[in-house]
Amino acid sequence: MLRMAPAQKNIEACNSMPSQLKMRLMPLNSKVNNSAQCENNNSVNTISDKVNIDAEFDLEKYEAMDFKAKIRWPDLIVQVLLHLVSIYGLYLTLTFKAKLLTVLYVFFTIYTSGFGITAGVHRLWSHRAYQARTPLRVILAILFTVTGQRDIYTWALDHRVHHKYTETAADPHDIRRGFWFAHVGWLVLTPHPAVEDRRAALRKTSLDLDADPVVKWQKKYFIPMFALLNVMLPVWVPWYCWNETLENSFVISFVTRFTITLNIAFCVNSFAHLWGNKPYDRFIKSTENILVSLAALGEGWHNYHHVFPWDYRTSELGRINISTGFIDAFAKIGWAYNLKMATSAMIISRAKRSGDGTLGETEEPDPTAKNESIE
Ligand SMILES: [Zn+2]
Ligand SMILES: [Zn+2]
Repeated sequence: MLRMAPAQKNIEACNSMPSQLKMRLMPLNSKVNNSAQCENNNSVNTISDKVNIDAEFDLEKYEAMDFKAKIRWPDLIVQVLLHLVSIYGLYLTLTFKAKLLTVLYVFFTIYTSGFGITAGVHRLWSHRAYQARTPLRVILAILFTVTGQRDIYTWALDHRVHHKYTETAADPHDIRRGFWFAHVGWLVLTPHPAVEDRRAALRKTSLDLDADPVVKWQKKYFIPMFALLNVMLPVWVPWYCWNETLENSFVISFVTRFTITLNIAFCVNSFAHLWGNKPYDRFIKSTENILVSLAALGEGWHNYHHVFPWDYRTSELGRINISTGFIDAFAKIGWAYNLKMATSAMIISRAKRSGDGTLGETEEPDPTAKNESIE
């Protein structure tokens, strides 16, 4: 029998319940009754679940494989340069050699563009935790491009692989290989063959991404959009609008901002898979990490997120989660809809079954009505 990832084990258990399995196989655009939605660690409630992509996949073979990653020198050099120049950027900032407006602008850009990651490529495109009308998808695609973190398709695909094969050889940033590998090493090393295998498998089945014109458009024009939105615009604004020097603008508003945003995202893969409590599932490595949540607009409640990846809030009600507020605001004007949420009963029962006993130490999940799907 094939060795299964924790996520796969849950799916197996889940699949033994025919009515719930039926719910999982509903088309993307159908309304999901969350109380009946299956509780599992799988990432996406998509048409990809209809296809058994694991039939030919021998994880055990990959786990036993003697694999030595090679350094991808161009990627390593880019990362080293970004970080070295960013240290200079921090020096310019801390010694007041840059204008205060430039620093405030960078801070503002980091935290507005961040919604393109959290509410956009993560909760919307990777997990389909809610649906968004075209204007919101365009806004999210633009914000995401400002962060410069590759194209939506590539990011979402890798994230789906991460959730489906967490803590296995097929996990692109497998935390079992250590903090630095999960943080940044995976981006500068050749991927494990199991990762490439599963990327190819999920590519065949992530038809929802292929079908989204905003995703296609952002992928097609990624390089010019990256140049415009991640480099030129952030450098131009402080230089043109308040006479910042071009050097300061380039170093702080492009390189340092870009690198800080990257590291905030990296922290979810490293810190939030290592340090923190596990109220919902003590058998997985992802944790609840408040510092990561504060830095990453609510994405550090990662034990919850790996247990209920289809919940648009990525955390329980009451947790600090600015991205949830962002989605809620767009839900009010109808641009975000079909928001999926775990019910309190689901959360409590899961915590009782597999949590580390810390649920409710800081706060109880809301036991009242606010746990129904918002249409
Ligand atoms: Zn994770
Ligand atoms: Zn996720």
